[in-house]
Amino acid sequence: MHELSIAHNIVTIASNAAAEAGVDRISAVHLRIGALAGVVADALRFSFAIAAEGTPLAGADLIIEEVPVVVFCPDCNAEVTLTNPRLFRCPRCDRPCGQIVHGRELELVALETP
Ligand SMILES: [Zn+2]
Repeated sequence: MHELSIAHNIVTIASNAAAEAGVDRISAVHLRIGALAGVVADALRFSFAIAAEGTPLAGADLIIEEVPVVVFCPDCNAEVTLTNPRLFRCPRCDRPCGQIVHGRELELVALETP
């Protein structure tokens, strides 16, 4: 399962960060996930709970901020948010655009300690 390997990566990165900071427990992990990252948030939450067992992240909350798809439209010379992330057309001028600015993120934003 794709989400389980992502969850293991998050746990590894966060555990290392906790060790470096001299923290022995993390209560919450904040992530940013783009609509195009191919991650199912519920599956990731479930996998995270399993991956976190026996680590400083055990029982921590996974707080996911979903990032919409933003493309750059050369005609409008602007970054526009796609209303339909499957349809790569500028919502202002209807020109096809594939220059993705946001939407592929999978970032660890912050860690909280109790
Ligand atoms: Zn446009």
